Amino acid sequence: MKREYILDQTFERYTSKIVKRNGKGTAIVWFRNDLRVLDNEVLFKAWVDSESVLPVYCVDPRVFQASTRYFGFPKTGGLRGQFIIECLVDLKKNLMKRGLNLLIKHGKPEEIIPTLAKDFASHAVYAQKETCSEEVNVEKLVSKALRRVQLPHSTGRSTSQGSANSPTLQLVWGGTLYHLDDLPFSTNSIPDVYTQFRKSVEAKCSIRSCAKISMSLGPAPLHRGLGMSALSRVYEYFWKKDFLKIYKETRNGMLGPDYSTKFSPWLASGSLSPRFIYEEVKRYEKERLANDSTYWVLFELIWRDYFRFISVKYGNSIFHLGGPRNVERRWNQDQRLFDSWRNGCTGYPLIDANMKELSATGFMSNRGRQIVCSFLVRDMGIDWRMGAEWFETFLLDYDPCSNYGNWTYGAGVGNDPREDRYFSIPKQAQTYDPEGEYVAYWLPQLQKLPREKRNFPGKLYMEQIVPLKFGNPNGDRASAARKNSYGGRGRKTTKGYMS
Ligand SMILES: Cc1cc2nc3c(=O)[nH]c(=O)nc-3n(C[C@H](O)[C@H](O)[C@H](O)COP(=O)(O)OP(=O)(O)OC[C@H]3O[C@@H](n4cnc5c(N)ncnc54)[C@H](O)[C@@H]3O)c2cc1C
Repeated sequence: MKREYILDQTFERYTSKIVKRNGKGTAIVWFRNDLRVLDNEVLFKAWVDSESVLPVYCVDPRVFQASTRYFGFPKTGGLRGQFIIECLVDLKKNLMKRGLNLLIKHGKPEEIIPTLAKDFASHAVYAQKETCSEEVNVEKLVSKALRRVQLPHSTGRSTSQGSANSPTLQLVWGGTLYHLDDLPFSTNSIPDVYTQFRKSVEAKCSIRSCAKISMSLGPAPLHRGLGMSALSRVYEYFWKKDFLKIYKETRNGMLGPDYSTKFSPWLASGSLSPRFIYEEVKRYEKERLANDSTYWVLFELIWRDYFRFISVKYGNSIFHLGGPRNVERRWNQDQRLFDSWRNGCTGYPLIDANMKELSATGFMSNRGRQIVCSFLVRDMGIDWRMGAEWFETFLLDYDPCSNYGNWTYGAGVGNDPREDRYFSIPKQAQTYDPEGEYVAYWLPQLQKLPREKRNFPGKLYMEQIVPLKFGNPNGDRASAARKNSYGGRGRKTTKGYMS
């Protein structure tokens, strides 16, 4: 009850009494990866520009039933599918609180949206602008299909786009901390090095305030809404448990709910706005304290912005084997090695535990992601896109820009030529899981071992599938090397290298 009250208060803080509508007719809000009411520019603009708003979400079979591009994994795994359903339920409740409802339709947006526009004589469709090719292609198809719709009479504001009697698609930038239009450089000149990007945006541009909307967005509410999970998590992590002040010290953890914010799934589905997080951090700094940790959450959010803007600069090359720099490197697609990685049976507890966590929960810590990525591409020498597509299937927080951006980074084919790091498993285990608590949690067979042995069990665990590129304490290096001739970059093998 208290939590509900606090969430209602949050909504109230982001409500404006002065904002006025000045449009006519019905506007459709096509929800995509912006499944929220709070700080949603798309919803805000549609509301201001119309007399009534119709919110719609399309369950697109190309997203929920298709396979990944090269390796045929499901494009959306069951756990993320379930998570998106929960986000939609939450969105629907929050819309209903403000007098709207959410229409959820199964099918392609380019078929659903124009039909609704015709039925509701809607003058404009508002949606969040995306940056990667599959999403951009859908925008083009929707826009084209809308141009074929002839509205019976003047139904709203006339706009410069499209024919006067057809609805238009209004794409709105959203979802980043810094607005695309406020960047201190053109998208073609976005710095390739993260630190340069961050220092430049921090010094030269400011973060716009959250969009505040009216408390009532339509007719009287039908039901009273319940919880708001994305906002609940912000409240819990920042205010109730007060973890923001130690985030920088805990963020490299791997076990438990609170070592990091866990905001990423809601950021990816758009249920949470990064600008809202920014404003909450500022409020916390004013009301409680400001330190390195409070800043560091923003530092990490700028990484997220960075990968989004890099996708604008480099387009589809972030999905290509050679990455944005078109790096030529030899990779293999050995199925046996890949299966051992994805199923968590490599013989390295730290890798296996992380991969088991991913398939069981749809989440993996940032530390874990870097380690398993390095192992796949450097120790196994496997085509990094196989790993990226596996993550695409399973991650609750899957986002094309952050996922492929980080994978190209980890594989050494990213836009930043300086990034070519190897994560040594023994060192990572020693530093981040010295007691073996994490590995024993996901691999219960290790629980009976002494703590210092859990990450280095030798023959007490399964055989290692490949030797490590650099050092293999406690490992059965010789036998692993005998069994497998595939390895890191540049190693000659009998089959399957790609260039
Ligand atoms: C190989 C690999 C693949 C990844 N794939 C994704 C992905 O598909 N979607 C995704 O959201 N993140 C991805 N990340 C980044 C990062 O691992 C997650 O954002 C983070 O672990 C989410 O947990 P959190 O919300 O508790 O993060 P926190 O540590 O609490 O960070 C706060 C927020 O900052 C952002 N952030 C933090 N680190 C990064 C980063 N390296 N890149 C981009 N944003 C970051 C996220 O939005 C995150 O929610 C990937 C990282 C790697 C190494």
